[in-house]
Amino acid sequence: MAKRPRPRTFRRVDELLAARYGQRRREPREPLDTLVRTILSQNTTDVNSIPAFERLKEAFPDWRDALEAGPRAIERPIEQAGLAPTKSRRIHEILGRLDAQRGELSLAYVCDMAPDEAWEHLLALPGVGPKTVAIVLLFDCAMPFFPVDTHVFRVATRLGWLPDDSTPGKAHDTLRDAIPADLYFQLHLNMVQHGRECCHPSRPDCHHCPLSRFCAAYRDGEVEARGE
Ligand code: SF4
Repeated sequence: MAKRPRPRTFRRVDELLAARYGQRRREPREPLDTLVRTILSQNTTDVNSIPAFERLKEAFPDWRDALEAGPRAIERPIEQAGLAPTKSRRIHEILGRLDAQRGELSLAYVCDMAPDEAWEHLLALPGVGPKTVAIVLLFDCAMPFFPVDTHVFRVATRLGWLPDDSTPGKAHDTLRDAIPADLYFQLHLNMVQHGRECCHPSRPDCHHCPLSRFCAAYRDGEVEARGE
């Protein structure tokens, strides 16, 4: 990263991506639902994790039923998301911990915490990492965190927004500091979509990319773009 881009660069990138992928509006949900959705999405795609979550909610419309049924019963409806034994155990442990600590199966209370306190609180749950916490707190509580998944990390790296020795873990703090907070939600979602549809891991579609004039990797010839 030569130097940190200016806020207006982030705003222009946000505008260009929104023109291509659409404006995004937050639709807050019960944070526990988002947490479970995000656990199901680990190591798989939306094509598998979204139906798995829907099946889980069909099987257990009330989280208390899932808690009482146990991890083996949670496993079956989430099979499509993969790693079902591990994911079902984590989900069940989280439900059990909430029940023991609060007596209710909801995470709505975290939205009333200070952001840093909420961050530490969710990070202490079993199997929950920084990306998951950032998604829950940004999406459902409008707290200032910038989730970094594999797509966001790749796009940000190519754009030159991250230092050479960055990792997805470090990138969260770098991007959170650099990007204006009012852009977090829309820019995150549209960078994910851009990574899926255009800025692929190999042979990205740079010739049709609205960000090419902002992209360090394209400018420096560091990516092998697919043909015109
Ligand atoms: S120009 Fe190419 S490498 Fe750069 S963001 Fe666009 S698709 Fe990705």
